[in-house]
Amino acid sequence: MNYEYILIRYGEIALKGKNRKIFTQKLQENVQNKVKDIPDIKVKRQRDRMYILLNGQDPEPIIERCRTIFGIHSLSKAIKVNNEEEQIKKAALFALQEAEGVKTFKVTTKRTDKDFPVRSQQFNQVLGGYLLKNTEGYTVDVHQPDMELRVEIRQDGTYITSQKIQAAGGLPVGSSGKTLLLLSGGIDSPVAGYLTMKRGVQVEAVHFHSPPFTSERAKQKVFDLARQLTKYGHSIRIHVVPFTKLQQKVHQAIPHGYSMTVMRRMMMRISEQIASKEGILSLTTGESLGQVASQTMESMHAINEVTNYPVLRPLIAMDKEDIIDVSQKIDTYDISIRPYEDCCTVFVPDAPKTMPRKEKVNQFEQAEDFGDLLAETLENVEVVTIDSQAKEEEFDALL
Ligand code: ATP
Ligand code: MG
Repeated sequence: MNYEYILIRYGEIALKGKNRKIFTQKLQENVQNKVKDIPDIKVKRQRDRMYILLNGQDPEPIIERCRTIFGIHSLSKAIKVNNEEEQIKKAALFALQEAEGVKTFKVTTKRTDKDFPVRSQQFNQVLGGYLLKNTEGYTVDVHQPDMELRVEIRQDGTYITSQKIQAAGGLPVGSSGKTLLLLSGGIDSPVAGYLTMKRGVQVEAVHFHSPPFTSERAKQKVFDLARQLTKYGHSIRIHVVPFTKLQQKVHQAIPHGYSMTVMRRMMMRISEQIASKEGILSLTTGESLGQVASQTMESMHAINEVTNYPVLRPLIAMDKEDIIDVSQKIDTYDISIRPYEDCCTVFVPDAPKTMPRKEKVNQFEQAEDFGDLLAETLENVEVVTIDSQAKEEEFDALL
């Protein structure tokens, strides 16, 4: 005997009336996309759950991949048999013996096919008794079993499932629209990207770089970060903005206390233009209140002035330690701490104003003409797609 299915359970998406169909369709698509290179398997959707039909494939690597798909709350391997007592017993015995590290178990039967002659409660006992009789070293524990063996007797057959494996939770990426993530090489913005993805938002990224002040390796770092994020969703397109000329002009024309505020405003303007062109309805940053000079209330007020787009700041109220915890959990931390320069750190003035005044910023900006340079910068944006399925060589060839 072997497991034939992987059962996929979704949490909150099962609750939401009309959106439910959009969510489940999206989730099915995302699962299909994630396993498309594995031959023979099929992803099937039912009203309240999904199954992957294994057709002989090993379930373990598939489960490993599916664990990072947002919208999936838990997974179990499953066997389907006819609604016949003997078949159910054999399958349950297999499931119990196949599981590792299990000493205590409990059977939970749910009978929705009322034609099946034994009631749920009674069947728990029949099956429990059978399992104890045909194995050694197991005991039943109804309160805290190592394994809860679920038996669902449905119209279309009986499903016997193994342990629940926790998955990423959240909502399926793509079910809540798209955002343009301002992705630096730092610790924060990848975490911001991860958290928006978790709420079902598909991410495109924009990265500002300033060669030769920032190196190819800094760009590589950003590609590596994006690639790490693709584990949780789709391929990610990165809009790489050549920022050198604009930054130099800001540096030379704006009083230094204000140059960082102006530079950030330029980033916002360019990001908004890209989002608008791509039909993306929001921007996302890794800002967190109070972290650095540009992240005071006054600064955010002055920077936000140049865009009417909603700016999502998922980290705004998080402590740095908590952000670092997430970045370690999602494996972006080690990439983020590689020591290459970011465009902002290269041009950052010694004493940026922590309380920039909006009127002043506007006055300094208006004294110069940035229009042509902004247009030229936008024209030269390059788009790189980080494919979630790319092999190592293909990925290296992007640079
Ligand atoms: P991070 O850790 O994400 O770099 P940070 O703590 O260094 O953030 P800032 O340098 O003030 O903070 O940047 C704030 C936000 O601005 C970043 O989280 C990111 O969203 C955006 N940003 C900064 N630099 C760049 C860049 N070179 N390209 C794209 N976005 C950037
Ligand atoms: Mg940074």
